[in-house]
Amino acid sequence: MQVFVPEHLADEEADPRHFTGRARMTAMRGVAGEADVNAYRVAFQAGARTAWHTHSGVQLLIVLEGTCWLQKEGQSRQDIPAGGLASIQPGEKHWHGAGPQAAMTHLAINIGATTTWLEQVTDREYRRT
Ligand code: MN
Repeated sequence: MQVFVPEHLADEEADPRHFTGRARMTAMRGVAGEADVNAYRVAFQAGARTAWHTHSGVQLLIVLEGTCWLQKEGQSRQDIPAGGLASIQPGEKHWHGAGPQAAMTHLAINIGATTTWLEQVTDREYRRT
């Protein structure tokens, strides 16, 4: 058994090369023992979002607070309320983050997934979703 509690974990500012706006990330690595399963709690301020990216494995997003904006390239944005979950398949180009008016926190669980970071989500792209 492993337990991860916030007071024993360090959070850090999300890498500005891969995020627009401010977000704080808490990494929980190896959460499924030897399997390559890593969890990341990410707290986005209003307007903050990831860059476009893909994962080599499945990513699960579990929304903890606020509303998660999630967009797959070529599709309309989807809004996921707290308590909701999204699964992102390997290779799907997408971004996720907070809406412009309110903060959002999600837990991302990456299953055998490394991330390939692509271009930032421009303000124009963000607004037109
Ligand atoms: Mn993702």
